[in-house]
Order: sequence, then structure tokens, then C-alpha cells
Amino acid sequence: MTGADLANRGYLQALKFGAQFTAPVSVASIVQDDSGVHVVSFCTGQKVRTRTVLIATGASYQRLPLDACERFEGMGVYYSATSVEARLCRESTAVVVGGGNSAGQAAMFLSQHAADVRLLLRGNDLRKGMSSYLADRIEKQSNIEVMCHTELCEMAGDKHLERVEIRNNQTEEREMLDCPSAFIFVGAKPHTEWLPDSVALDDRGFVMTGPMIHHHEKLPEGRTPCELETTSPGVFACGDVRSGTTKRCAFAVGDGALAITCVHQYLQ
Ligand SMILES: Cc1cc2nc3c(=O)[nH]c(=O)nc-3n(C[C@H](O)[C@H](O)[C@H](O)COP(=O)(O)OP(=O)(O)OC[C@H]3O[C@@H](n4cnc5c(N)ncnc54)[C@H](O)[C@@H]3O)c2cc1C
Repeated sequence: MTGADLANRGYLQALKFGAQFTAPVSVASIVQDDSGVHVVSFCTGQKVRTRTVLIATGASYQRLPLDACERFEGMGVYYSATSVEARLCRESTAVVVGGGNSAGQAAMFLSQHAADVRLLLRGNDLRKGMSSYLADRIEKQSNIEVMCHTELCEMAGDKHLERVEIRNNQTEEREMLDCPSAFIFVGAKPHTEWLPDSVALDDRGFVMTGPMIHHHEKLPEGRTPCELETTSPGVFACGDVRSGTTKRCAFAVGDGALAITCVHQYLQ
């Protein structure tokens, strides 16, 4: 079955259960009126009044500014490092791009599977964007090489990634590596710019929910939000857009299913 067939079946099933779709449309704003009802405005000017809203607008992962990056996505270029990707780089060199905790965790995890891991940093300080405990572990791991002032500048291969070229941004020295997998952790931008101020975001712009907002100043007094509820009562978030989630399909689907339980509880 193709992805389009699967999506079509999901669409038909939702129609069968009474869901109404409006597409293509983007949501421009949510405003809560005096009666507590949320008014959701679409870019078309259409408005929907509703007691609950579920935000599932995801995030955009930053790609490297290389034409080949998109071509090799899923074929050697990955944006997460789980046991699935780890199997694919067994006994070969894995390149990890990024200087944050997600890059560091990926490098540590992949070092258990790959022959060696090259961690590429644009700057020269591993601890600038990474927790020091993680930086310590990376430095002690014999098969991780931290390459400072280094950027990935070319990708090559037939159908699958086979080689990458790296460049020292100070000396301009270049090196070609045989490498079937490159893991990119250069940031994600959540689609939350349209949300009202009443929905609290973390310092990276992801929507905060549940226990992490129990004492948040934006939460109305006396209210204990459920797991997926935001600081705005009746507004929920799930999937990639939610702070602290694992950015994977299965997680997003599970989060979505749980969110519907939360919505039902709220409406009761
Ligand atoms: C290149 C790439 C490869 C990946 N590979 C894998 C993989 O192999 N396995 C895996 O498990 N995960 C993978 N992921 C991660 C996976 O795609 C996400 O975790 C998952 O899609 C998150 O689902 P979501 O519903 O939260 O968000 P999304 O799937 O991002 O859906 C969000 C939707 O909301 C829409 N939207 C945004 N803003 C608005 C707005 N204002 N109004 C209306 N609609 C809006 C967007 O257009 C989009 O359709 C990959 C991600 C990328 C980028």
C-alpha cells in the first residue's frame, strides 16, 4: 500500500465517524471569548467556535544547505538516531552534525553500533551547546572523534549516501570520508508562531503541557492540566509540536490518541 492509499483510508474512516475536513487551509489564530469558547480563525477568514482545540502542527527540521541533503533523506541522511538507523551504520563510519544535546546523545548511542563516529561542530567548544556530563562521556568514548570548526559540505552516492566531504571552516582544508550515514541535528522549528500568548511555550518555542506547567504563571489559578493540556484550558497539544516528545511517527500517533482521551475527559 502506498502512503497516499493509507492516508486516504484514514480520511475515509474519519469521515465515517463524522469528522469534517477543511483543506487546504492554515489556522491563523485562536482567541478565547468571554464565555470560554475558543474561536479558531482560518487564513480564508472562516471561523470555527469550539470548546476544545488540539494543536498538532508539528515542526520543521532544519536541513543542511546542500541540494543532496534532501535527495538522500531516508537513504543515508537521518534526523534521528534510533535502533533502526543504528543497524544501518553498523561497522561503518557515522557522521553526526550538530553541537546540541540531541547530537551528543545520538553520537553516544551510535558509537555502540558504528565502527567510529565523527561529531562535526561548527565552533570549537563542545560544552557550549551540550550538557557537560554528556560532553565528558563523548570525550571518553574512544571511537568518537569530535571535529571542531568542521562542516559537512558535500554528499555523494548513487541511490544511497556513500561519501561525505567535510571542510575545516578555519583552514579551508577538505577531507572525503566513506560514510553511508549522516545524522543531522541542527535544530527544529515548531509551527507555533500563530498561537496566542495564553499558550505557554518552552525556550525553543515548543508547546508546554501537563506536569511541566503545573506552576506556570499563565495557568489559571486552581487548575491542574491533564497530561496534554496547555496553559489555556481546553487547548491541547500532541506530536512534534509538544515540548519534550520523541519526534517520531509512532510517538505522534500515540500522543494523538491520548489527546483525544484528554479532550473527552475535559468535555465531561
Ligand atoms: C525528513 C524527515 C524524515 C523522517 N523520518 C522518520 C522516520 O523514518 N520514522 C519516524 O518515525 N519519524 C520520522 N520523521 C519524524 C516524523 O515525520 C514526525 O515525528 C511526525 O510526522 C510528527 O507528526 P505530527 O503530526 O506531530 O506533525 P507533522 O507530521 O509535521 O504534521 C503537522 C501538520 O500540521 C500542518 N500545519 C502546520 N502549521 C499549521 C497551521 N498553522 N494551520 C494548519 N496546519 C498547519 C503541517 O502542514 C503538517 O501537515 C521524519 C521527519 C523528517 C522531517
